[in-house]
Amino acid sequence: MITVTDLKKSFGSLEVIKGITATIKKGEIITIIGPSGTGKSTFLRALNMLDPPTGGSVEFEGKNLTDKKTDINEVRKRMGMVFQSFNLFSHMSVLDNLCVGQTKLLGVSRLEAEKTARELLSTVGLAEKANAYPDELSGGQKQRAAIARCLSMKPDIMLFDEPTSALDPTMVGEVTSVIKRLAQSGMTMAIVTHEMEFARNVSTRVIYMDEGGIYEEGPPEVIFGSPARDKTRAFINRVKSYRYEIISENYDFIEMMNNLIRFCEANALSKANAYKAQLTIEELANIMPKSEPSEISLSFPENQSLFTVTARYGGENLNILDDKDNKDKRDKMEAAIIKGGADSVTHMNDGQNYLTVTWKSK
Ligand code: ADP
Ligand code: MG
Repeated sequence: MITVTDLKKSFGSLEVIKGITATIKKGEIITIIGPSGTGKSTFLRALNMLDPPTGGSVEFEGKNLTDKKTDINEVRKRMGMVFQSFNLFSHMSVLDNLCVGQTKLLGVSRLEAEKTARELLSTVGLAEKANAYPDELSGGQKQRAAIARCLSMKPDIMLFDEPTSALDPTMVGEVTSVIKRLAQSGMTMAIVTHEMEFARNVSTRVIYMDEGGIYEEGPPEVIFGSPARDKTRAFINRVKSYRYEIISENYDFIEMMNNLIRFCEANALSKANAYKAQLTIEELANIMPKSEPSEISLSFPENQSLFTVTARYGGENLNILDDKDNKDKRDKMEAAIIKGGADSVTHMNDGQNYLTVTWKSK
């Protein structure tokens, strides 16, 4: 569907894309990941000439888009684009937002356009919002309406530029599930995203961008499971962590848990992983000795494949999850809860105790 050959893009003296050669086939779902500033948006915008390339060529359905004779507006009708910020017309109802392109650009009758619009609104779960105005919708609803509006033009490919990054964490899921459903329907898509779980689940191919080009690409199992190159590996394994220092027996338990919940939300942990993290930390905090400053932490790599909770506490060699060290009956029960949900529990002492509980992503 798209053939990109030695694509280059500079802004003044800043060379952002130094030569990308790639193809996108019909039915592929390509996610584009990588650190910010590596030209992911620029690449996507070069595909439909929103950022005209400074070198190389883009061919779409056999037409050379870099050729001056190509009518780019005709081509753009076939390539839908969804941005980070929901570009709905604020003075029009949701229904009108979905009809205007069809009637004005595709020459569809109003009656026909409304029929298509209502069908699309119901596929994105917004049937009852047809008459609402954009500012009456939540961020997630706006983005779903923007996706439906794009689909109303019956594009051959959809380009998404970080479609969930302007959303409240609680609304990310409703947008990613609409995109997942589109993927299942066979739509060809290129998606720039920071949601690694989503990228892993939805893609047929992942492109990791760095150093002004495609640094590594491959199937999601390979890119997220065993990438071949250093920078990809470093990006995938970037560790995120939450730490809380417990300074005394009377530490602020509510603050610790609240901050943890917010951290889980901000990183879009699945419900199962967030629940397990919260339960493990809550139970560990209950039974660990708090006679000396101690710390509890949660960490996981960017791809959220493995979760680690570590409790550090002072004193003599003591494994609080070991039955023979654990005299209190209630503590035994809490230890059993933690061990029951873990894939591994390790303990070491080097003057302080480090108890590490891990589980693979649920
Ligand atoms: P990403 O989407 O990977 O975060 P971008 O494609 O947005 O990266 O940007 C890549 C680089 O190009 C950045 O250094 C950015 O500042 C620069 N850039 C992007 N758009 C423009 C522009 N219109 N004018 C000048 N520089 C730009
Ligand atoms: Mg970007």
